[in-house]
Amino acid sequence: MTASRIPYGRQDISDDDVAAVIDTLKSDFLTQGPAIPRFEKALADYCGAKHALAVNSATSALHIACLALGLGKGDVLWTSPITFVASANAGLYCGAEVDFVDIDPATFNMCPDKLEAKLEQAKRDGRLPKIVIPVHMTGQSCDMEAIGNLAKVYGFRVIEDASHAVGGRYRDRHVGACEHSDIAVFSFHPVKIITTAEGGMAMTNDDELAARMALFRSHGVTRDPKLLEQKDEGPWYYEQHELGFNYRITDLQAALGLSQMSRLDEFVRRRHEIAARYDELLADLPVVIPHRRQDTYSAFHLYVIRVPARVGKPDRRKVFESMAAAGIGVNVHYFPVHAQPYYRANGHAGSSFPESELYYSEAITLPLFPGLTPDDQDRVVNALRDALDA
Ligand SMILES: *Cc1c(COP(=O)(O)O)cnc(C)c1O
Repeated sequence: MTASRIPYGRQDISDDDVAAVIDTLKSDFLTQGPAIPRFEKALADYCGAKHALAVNSATSALHIACLALGLGKGDVLWTSPITFVASANAGLYCGAEVDFVDIDPATFNMCPDKLEAKLEQAKRDGRLPKIVIPVHMTGQSCDMEAIGNLAKVYGFRVIEDASHAVGGRYRDRHVGACEHSDIAVFSFHPVKIITTAEGGMAMTNDDELAARMALFRSHGVTRDPKLLEQKDEGPWYYEQHELGFNYRITDLQAALGLSQMSRLDEFVRRRHEIAARYDELLADLPVVIPHRRQDTYSAFHLYVIRVPARVGKPDRRKVFESMAAAGIGVNVHYFPVHAQPYYRANGHAGSSFPESELYYSEAITLPLFPGLTPDDQDRVVNALRDALDA
């Protein structure tokens, strides 16, 4: 018997989730129905944020967040090199210039000290960023108080890319409370903590930002009688005020998301259980296990180990290939964005972020999802032990 391949991430869909989607299919609304505001309210209440706007992906949420904050041509946006390309692309969609701030090698998150040093230089150069997007890499919050304080001093706005972090906490608040940011964005892609197949959410406490994001989510069009600029022509009348998009989520997806939310805390608890067991099983291996900041509770989207180079021993690539050959769905998150061909060709040919590059050369993501069994985990660790030749 050959063992099946263990993926690095996998959704967990219950009978209740299936029933919720089927009920919606049989209802009057497939999109723009009652499930969307219910899903939004549930997440706003959960996070302790005033507003939640559901959209068709986190990428869309990042885009409307940047638009609502007025990002445009001539502006500058900074994010982390260690992220999915969408965090940086949001700036380019708006015609802004994108630059990066190197990571803290322990957490893989944007380093506040490096951010401060870069802000000082940018101030001297008269090129301060309008928006900074810290990314809660692997589900562990960035040092948001430090970043929020720098935002006040240097006058930039903050969008948290919390795609990995729904269900996580920073100090005594849930990520998404936006205590130290303008907007926080979640992703509900199937590998993430909860899923709507495709989907995302933008959280904010600011009424005006919420209204602007709602406008950009749906063609820049409004029916709100208070906002109309011309004569109200009648009940059919709407006005376009901005060049918006169709970034709406469907009711089917919102019903799935709402149903998944009832297990969000359980999913995160289960991810911690698996992560703690990995910590124990890996204790005697020549790898660096994930660092936990004492003031955060990670959502544990990813369990990333670092495999430092050892003389005469298999390097990261060899270790990855051996594990993949053993049927383990290892992954690498992420190839640094500034080194992508598109970014090299658009101003970053000479860019260097040493901690990000070193991290990238050592990182391996091990499988982690609620349905991962102890037997699966033993297989992963045995394959890693063999691959390391340890
Ligand atoms: C998944 C992810 C995104 C994009 O999410 P989508 O919902 O697929 O658009 C953005 N940023 C990070 C860090 C992600 O992991």
